[in-house]
Amino acid sequence: MDVRLRYMDGIELEFQDFRVIFDPLKLKKGVDLFLISHAHSDHYSIPKSSYTSFEVYSSPETKDIIAARHGAAGWIREIRMGKPILFKDRYQVSAYPSGHMLGSRGFIIDNGDLRIAYTGDLNNRPSLSTLYDAAVPEDVDILIIEATYGHPNFRFGNSQQIWMEMIRWAASTVENGILACIKGYTAGKSQEVEAIFGLLTNIPIYPHPTVYRVNRVYEKYGVSYVMKNLVSNAQEAKLLVSPVQLKRWAGRKVLTASATGRILIDEGGFGFPLSSHADYPSLLRYIVSCRPKRVYTVFGYSESLAYAVNKKLKIPANQLTEHFSEISL
Ligand SMILES: [Zn+2]
Repeated sequence: MDVRLRYMDGIELEFQDFRVIFDPLKLKKGVDLFLISHAHSDHYSIPKSSYTSFEVYSSPETKDIIAARHGAAGWIREIRMGKPILFKDRYQVSAYPSGHMLGSRGFIIDNGDLRIAYTGDLNNRPSLSTLYDAAVPEDVDILIIEATYGHPNFRFGNSQQIWMEMIRWAASTVENGILACIKGYTAGKSQEVEAIFGLLTNIPIYPHPTVYRVNRVYEKYGVSYVMKNLVSNAQEAKLLVSPVQLKRWAGRKVLTASATGRILIDEGGFGFPLSSHADYPSLLRYIVSCRPKRVYTVFGYSESLAYAVNKKLKIPANQLTEHFSEISL
């Protein structure tokens, strides 16, 4: 079997006659297919006009979010769930939900001899804003999985409890006459925060303008609650949702809390471990359910997760590096 894999500005997968890059940070010639798992900017290349000549695919939702953030995404073609695309007559490529944010997908490439799945960023814990829960690509030969929180230190606990703690903090901040702000990524995390407050509270929310542009895409795809509590008059707001830290806003004092799993290692300052990634136990559980013959880990704590998969799950595992690994089963 002549198939190899590495991480170099994206996850490069090379068959003898078919080259694929998952989540490319650069587009380059000689590659047959580029697959974008989701619309976080560390998973795609900032658009250039020359990109129309490349075969780049994402979900329709991801394409729309990238367009909302960069003005246009005409260089991206769409791959839909349940509609696999055949390349070079024998490489079947299919997309499945990965639960990380609206439009996030994992991909399976199957050529009849080898079935390879790449998860992209993965979240198999409860979420209110992703539309689809993470699916499990069963019986894959090779699983390439993200390891952002692939270390035993990352155990987020009960999601609903985190939601309630965040709401209690915001309510008490508002009661003290201070404007509350929850800081998170423009796309994905901000909409999850809006959906949680929309479902469980009546607290009026004013989103940062960059967040609002992405909200409109969520609205287009029918994600409930994201827009429910939003106010267009900033003076009516009691909660801000913003990708940047704020101390004062429109003449009012602001108290900011971050929403990120990194809170658990004190890198995010004050906040809540509201993550759109699987934590360590969830990653291991997911790997078991995929029943892979071999695992490759990428991003974050990839070395730690590969070690755990080898030792605890007894499945051969390696972290991806910039050097090619020859795939063997
Ligand atoms: Zn992401």
